[in-house]
Amino acid sequence: MKGILGHDRVKQGLHQALVKNQVPHAQLFLGPEGVGKFKMALGLAQALLCSESHVDFCGLCSSCLQVQRGQHPGLLVVNTENAQIKMEEARELLKKLHLRNWEGARVVVINDAHKLNLQAGNALLKVIEEPPEKTYFVLVTSQPGKILSTIRSRTQVVRFGPLEEKHLKTITGADGWVLSSANGSVTRAEQLLQDESDDNRKLAMHSLVDVLMAQKTYLQWVEGLQTIAKDKAQLEVILETWKQMLRDLRVQEYKPAHHSDLMVELQQAPVGDLRKLDQVFQIISYMQTQLLSNVDRQLLLESGYLKMKSIIHPEQESLI
Ligand SMILES: [Zn+2]
Repeated sequence: MKGILGHDRVKQGLHQALVKNQVPHAQLFLGPEGVGKFKMALGLAQALLCSESHVDFCGLCSSCLQVQRGQHPGLLVVNTENAQIKMEEARELLKKLHLRNWEGARVVVINDAHKLNLQAGNALLKVIEEPPEKTYFVLVTSQPGKILSTIRSRTQVVRFGPLEEKHLKTITGADGWVLSSANGSVTRAEQLLQDESDDNRKLAMHSLVDVLMAQKTYLQWVEGLQTIAKDKAQLEVILETWKQMLRDLRVQEYKPAHHSDLMVELQQAPVGDLRKLDQVFQIISYMQTQLLSNVDRQLLLESGYLKMKSIIHPEQESLI
């Protein structure tokens, strides 16, 4: 898997399977978003389809070039921006799989496989369990909890971790706080590199300090985040940044901070009982999972504020 950065353990495993000619007929690439799972799936497809090498891809043969252009007849990719992968797409895929005019290996890559709706997933179950000869499925997801359990149980799971910072730096050019805040995800680093991210980060810092210090009234605080609540992606950034900042406060004596340039301002907040910080951290994690299931974002922020405040300042609970 030349040219794919990081994930050495995964690459080794795939390489061994190729060498032994034991690539599982259905795999589930599972791990955080934006770390290269889909790219690795295409790399594996290229290796399986390469006409010059059986253990990797050469990158030069006509098969490899066709895969790179996305035009190889043996490569079937499902990759949609839509919220769901529906029945029609599953049907289309099955039709292509049953065409008999192609005799070589076939690789089906389904990106964001958690988007397969129940019908589409059920339609594919049988072929995933018993694919035609020389047919390989690679399903890719960052949301394993949403994968249909019937599909998951028919695949061999390959776990991906975050990318190492050095690789993330090579891929995105990110540095400093962006690099340390991106959690090893190219997608996230790219989000953070956008102009408004530094403003979001400062907004996250001020709003967190405000909660920890109970500096503002409920209404003032909620109003300050009103624009953020309108934008799911921005709210995601704020929630993740809050968690990083809490971690920075929590471990400030023995670990370098993600947001070292903002530490002086963050430290205004009296840390006090560290267990309280952990509880606030958990509340934010919960808000993150809620956000994924498309709740009302304004309400999410409001209830989050009340919960955080009642932990940090239980004595003020009645004073909203
Ligand atoms: Zn090749």
